[in-house]
Amino acid sequence: MNEIANNLETIEKKIRAACERSGRKRESVTLIAVSKTKPLSDIEAAYLSGCTQFGENKVQELMEKQKHCSLPLSWHLIGHLQINKVKYLPGAVKLIHSVDSEKLAAEIDRQAAKHGVVMDVLCEINIASEESKFGILPEQAVETVKRIATSFGHVSVKGLMCVAPRTDDAQTNRPYFRAMRQLLESINGELGEDKRLSELSMGMSGDFETAIEEGATMVRVGTGIFGKRDYEITA
Ligand SMILES: *Cc1c(COP(=O)(O)O)cnc(C)c1O
Repeated sequence: MNEIANNLETIEKKIRAACERSGRKRESVTLIAVSKTKPLSDIEAAYLSGCTQFGENKVQELMEKQKHCSLPLSWHLIGHLQINKVKYLPGAVKLIHSVDSEKLAAEIDRQAAKHGVVMDVLCEINIASEESKFGILPEQAVETVKRIATSFGHVSVKGLMCVAPRTDDAQTNRPYFRAMRQLLESINGELGEDKRLSELSMGMSGDFETAIEEGATMVRVGTGIFGKRDYEITA
């Protein structure tokens, strides 16, 4: 068995165990394989081991891979999105995880309308209020997410996403994951039944099990599947 298949088997076992510990169904968690910086051959290997959801954090890299890939995959844009790149995304990605301003949402709405589609998005929360990170600050989250969720006909907000602080001890991120879930509930308290948010994209290679225990519905795993990246992408 190749390394990627091996890694996926390990990740799958951990996802199942975390679901069992927290009384959740395996189907309630979607694994997104984060393939940034990795070649198409790695994506193909992961696909052959059952992965269908792939995450990239740069629009250009995502488009390039998609162009050369004939497999029936779904693509997720998980990195910071610049306004001028939005135009490439309608029809190309299943979900944008990184909406962090009303201005960005307005441009997604405009481009989606042009293509006659509704784009599914998550709002990114800078849950630990880190200087170095993008995302809506927690104290502004209820108001800002509510406005994004109710202002645009071609943008459908499905939930929240966060990139938790880097840590060697996943337990230190548990309070942040818990706060994300509480925020989701607070926002839902302000939204009509038809707009209720259900997705929480949180947890990466180092802390996805803890994130699942705290309610993650999507985990984004890169190095845990594909191994170390040769170079690191910032934000
Ligand atoms: C790179 C990246 C991941 C995956 O990180 P790993 O630690 O390699 O699992 C998840 N989410 C985002 C937004 C990323 O940029």
